[in-house]
Amino acid sequence: MFNPSFKGGVHPPENKKLTEERSIENLSVPHTCFVPVQQHIGKPAIPVVQVGDYVQVGQLIAKADGFISSNIHASIPGKIASITNGPTPASASGLRIQIETHGNFASEKTPDKIEWDKLPPKDLLEKVFDAGIAGMGGASFPTHVKLSPPSNVKIDVLIINAAECEPYLTVDDALIKRSYKEIIEGIMITRTILGVKNVIIGVESNKKRSYKTIKEYLKKIGEKNIKIPMLKTKYPQGAEKQLIYSLTHRTVPSGGLPMEVGTVVQNIGTCFAIQQAVCYGTPLFERLVTVSGSLINKPGNYKIRIGTTIADIIRECGGLKEQPHKIVMGGPMCGQAVETTDIPIVKGTSGLLFLSKEESSAGRYANCIRCGRCVQACPINLLPFEIAANIEISRPECTERFSPLDCIQCGACSFICPSRRPVSHFVKVAQDYIRSKR
Ligand code: SF4
Ligand code: SF4
Repeated sequence: MFNPSFKGGVHPPENKKLTEERSIENLSVPHTCFVPVQQHIGKPAIPVVQVGDYVQVGQLIAKADGFISSNIHASIPGKIASITNGPTPASASGLRIQIETHGNFASEKTPDKIEWDKLPPKDLLEKVFDAGIAGMGGASFPTHVKLSPPSNVKIDVLIINAAECEPYLTVDDALIKRSYKEIIEGIMITRTILGVKNVIIGVESNKKRSYKTIKEYLKKIGEKNIKIPMLKTKYPQGAEKQLIYSLTHRTVPSGGLPMEVGTVVQNIGTCFAIQQAVCYGTPLFERLVTVSGSLINKPGNYKIRIGTTIADIIRECGGLKEQPHKIVMGGPMCGQAVETTDIPIVKGTSGLLFLSKEESSAGRYANCIRCGRCVQACPINLLPFEIAANIEISRPECTERFSPLDCIQCGACSFICPSRRPVSHFVKVAQDYIRSKR
């Protein structure tokens, strides 16, 4: 029987009101961008420019190093001011290409649209690779890799992730509102590359407007192979394995990939980027970001150049009401708390949150009372409290039998814990220990 949900999960406060009715605005282009060469899973790209070079928007500045890597492009026109290490979302000291604005934006004129349906799938895939597209839902897996399953693997369903289950985040919702036609075209291109007929789009029941917009458009164009069932609103509905289960009832095995159950999952923002790359040759040099939290003066859904620092974003969004207790890149549940505003946004940055103490879950925590709520909430059927207990007493070697590597770092266990224990953090420590040991 079809069941648009999954086992476990939690219902954190949505906190989307701050931005859900805000349409997309362009953030002013910064004077300086710091573009990291590692914005994706895999090997960092290799710089192909030198200090003193002049670049145009969209020009290749770092080339993918092998298959599991991504091209990087200039996000502003200007002069390469430095190629040195500095803070990035992936590292406290990662290689960044600094561009200082110089020249004009004339080259940003949109070129004529090409007739993509006359091209073979391999040419479409090449355009995705050239454009440096990496998953925009947060994981940042190079998209051309996801769209190149081995020849002995049969993919029969393409799943589009529009769940946007993280609190605060509203960029996917805003993008659907503005660009639903382009998104559907991007889905059709993706489907053609994979040679797949059936597509399922997952939208949660709290985004009825997006759901209705897509459903009506599919009906209007007579598209019958793209389905859009309404998912139950529950966190982490948008996690890859949970979404696959909700929409197909297929279970991705422990340590396995979606392709092992005949599926490929793409984020809806990635489908938009694919459409722009294939139809207009536009590389991925900007993205939509929800800037939110109670402490930012002008919350909204902004189009921001890759490499713009948090400090520049704060200034352009009217400044802060007071010093935030926590700044988070991504959503509050599985996003990343950052210590400095010198970090630039990258291809996988869907949100930037400025949270007060009340909004942030950080604080003192108490002992485990063995209530079992973290077990009920865990969508992977783990025993999070057991892993946490072993880490707390410095016995990481004892955690392996509880399979911490299967944890998807959704944060549901920490959210539900009545003792406010940072359970998912402990599980992450166990993961790091086991990975380093292996
Ligand atoms: S153990 Fe991992 S997968 Fe399970 S609830 Fe905690 S963070 Fe999520
Ligand atoms: S929810 Fe918290 S208190 Fe309850 S068993 Fe899990 S870690 Fe312990």
